[in-house]
Amino acid sequence: MEKSYVSLDTKICIFCGKQFEIGIILDKRLKNTLEKNTITGIDLCPECTKEDYILLIEIDEDKSSIESDESVKPENAYKTGRAIYVKMKHFQKIFGTTSKNKFSFINERGYNKFQNNL
Ligand SMILES: [Zn+2]
Repeated sequence: MEKSYVSLDTKICIFCGKQFEIGIILDKRLKNTLEKNTITGIDLCPECTKEDYILLIEIDEDKSSIESDESVKPENAYKTGRAIYVKMKHFQKIFGTTSKNKFSFINERGYNKFQNNL
């Protein structure tokens, strides 16, 4: 495919794996260097996003790379295949904080805790 100076800013859905476009990217020199799509990261796609909910995705802590601040980068998360939608207000109540993200990672213990509380 021919390259262009404009490309679709594309992310990959952490949950379903689908690619989705969120905007455009321009080559600032207006040179034809870009593919039709440019993958810029991982997020939750519109179809997997639920208003007022956060998706908690279970990960295997032993197989994931945990950062020093205990966060996990999406590309380093080893997902188990289980996930659970939780109302943001429940998430807030349990963790005492809100999240600007549409998803978060959770370990098995946390997952079971949420599952038993719903
Ligand atoms: Zn999705």
